[in-house]
Amino acid sequence: MRKTLQDQDRLCDVDAALNDIKTRRPALTDIATAYALILHARTAVAAALPDTSILGGAAATGAQAQGAPLLAPLFATLSKPDPELLKRFLAAARIMLPATAQAFPNMAPELAKIAVLLDKPGQGRDQGADLAAQLLSAIGPDAEHATPPQTVEDIAARLGLSAPALHMCATETFLAVLGHESELLGELVDQDTWRRGYCPVCGGGPDMGILKEGHGEDSEFLVSKAGQLWLHCGQCGTLWRFPRLRCVACGCEDPKRTDLLIAEGDPRSEIERAHLCQDCKSYLLTVNLVDRVDKVNLEMLPMGLLHLDVLAQERGFGPLAPSPWNTLS
Ligand SMILES: [Zn+2]
Ligand SMILES: [Zn+2]
Repeated sequence: MRKTLQDQDRLCDVDAALNDIKTRRPALTDIATAYALILHARTAVAAALPDTSILGGAAATGAQAQGAPLLAPLFATLSKPDPELLKRFLAAARIMLPATAQAFPNMAPELAKIAVLLDKPGQGRDQGADLAAQLLSAIGPDAEHATPPQTVEDIAARLGLSAPALHMCATETFLAVLGHESELLGELVDQDTWRRGYCPVCGGGPDMGILKEGHGEDSEFLVSKAGQLWLHCGQCGTLWRFPRLRCVACGCEDPKRTDLLIAEGDPRSEIERAHLCQDCKSYLLTVNLVDRVDKVNLEMLPMGLLHLDVLAQERGFGPLAPSPWNTLS
């Protein structure tokens, strides 16, 4: 029996989770099928990449106390990516691009053109490692300081490529690399002290919260029987603890300023909820897994909550971590 989230294989049963969504929410069949293809490809990327972190032995766990995610050193160098990152990005792209083309067939011709450019060996301009470096620089947090400053749109225009396809290529490939890092670095996260609203591995925002009983004799759980709140990173899939009654976005803890939203008449409304913060108008979706002992696919879970995204956004609240399926406007 799987008691805690850390024991959970987060990429388990993608197809079972897909079938569940198809049954419950037929309207989401296409987007859920596409996402399942992406998740399978991420699993293949993780198997193809080295089983050591890109940070080597240099993961600075001490900086967590100051609020620095473990991958902060990697993000700090995205404007000038090191050769190991470029090697892994290119290896991941070889797997992610065909899968992304299968998931989004209307982009397939453009993705194929990008794949050909990325696959060229050598040091040529606008191909292989050089193109990978430009893409990482353009999607990284230092993009505005990079020289020459160029966006994904600039690169696409110069090379005669579709900007949305190039952006999807860059982000899906980088997310696959990040997901692999999350699996390697997850155990270095200081789960006893990290209580921030962003991911301790990659710095991303949460796409949902999960309520689950904790390890062993957790007095908080024994008293409340309500489970611990774990946030799930929308970028890399890392899980971390967060105080149950605090707004992730603004830190508000006033119960009078927060509301619970449920889907009336939905059989799962007991376990699936949106927590609304009146102070900052953001919402967090939560799923209560306290009574679930089977495997749950955490990556597919947010997609099955789209009906709550709709309800919350209709009321003027915004998601914490916008993603392709929860940004509706
Ligand atoms: Zn993350
Ligand atoms: Zn708030």
